[in-house]
Amino acid sequence: MTALYAVEHLTKTFGRGKTAVQAVKDVSFELEEAQVTTIVGESGSGKSTVARMLLGLMPVTSGTLRFDGRDVTHLKGRDRAAYWRQVQAVFQDPFSSFNQFFTVGKLLARSMRLVGREVGRQRLEESLGHVGMTPDVLGRYPHELSGGQRQRVMIARALMMQPKLLIADEATSMLDASLRVNILNVLTDLRDELGMTVLFITHDIGQACYLADRVLVMEHGSLVEQGPTDKVIFQPEHEYTKRLLADVPKLHSAMDLERP
Ligand code: ADP
Ligand code: MG
Repeated sequence: MTALYAVEHLTKTFGRGKTAVQAVKDVSFELEEAQVTTIVGESGSGKSTVARMLLGLMPVTSGTLRFDGRDVTHLKGRDRAAYWRQVQAVFQDPFSSFNQFFTVGKLLARSMRLVGREVGRQRLEESLGHVGMTPDVLGRYPHELSGGQRQRVMIARALMMQPKLLIADEATSMLDASLRVNILNVLTDLRDELGMTVLFITHDIGQACYLADRVLVMEHGSLVEQGPTDKVIFQPEHEYTKRLLADVPKLHSAMDLERP
């Protein structure tokens, strides 16, 4: 297996002096190609800050980010724009930043233009197919879709760029349980069918374990445990991991579901 992403000694400090917050403390991990890796931890543990730095949306305080064999820690201009196509993200609240009076088609038009008009339409239809949707969704308004359908549209939008890495930060947190499982399955299908590398971020260790090949556990900005999912579930080493697992009485019944 090869690592698509190598993160070395990543730190992030917000503010200075006495009020400084060390949001991410010396975090190192790798994302294996065509695997789903999850980061799990309570709210405020630094998960989104890690995601934003990997996405190049926020400068690192220190550390190195290596993507596909290249140092991407301090990209600028054209290099950064090229990088942004290869690393796409979906967040918790799809469409929150979009005009609600636009149809889904209009909302996706910009992504289509980025790809190029000729291949754009074809890629769009392929991408919708990958998330189990048909092009008739393009004529609908966001409020006519369920939360799960909206999130699938956002994943399709990301897929149009044909990214090498998809980062989903609490992308299922607002969804009902049944819709949530549906999205988790979409993500594992992308791994299996397209060889997509996925970084799935959640505060819910049940979800993390449901879909991940590998689980990373963060507590107060530090990575306290990481390993293959079964190892983390059945032989957790860190007290914090044990506590997270104990807080999920339904985890074991959830694990009885067929694992993706
Ligand atoms: P998580 O995603 O795990 O809930 P975050 O990465 O959002 O955690 O936040 C980690 C810590 O960093 C929190 O204490 C949060 O308040 C702080 N933080 C996050 N973003 C900022 C920011 N832009 N400015 C100052 N502090 C921040
Ligand atoms: Mg977060």
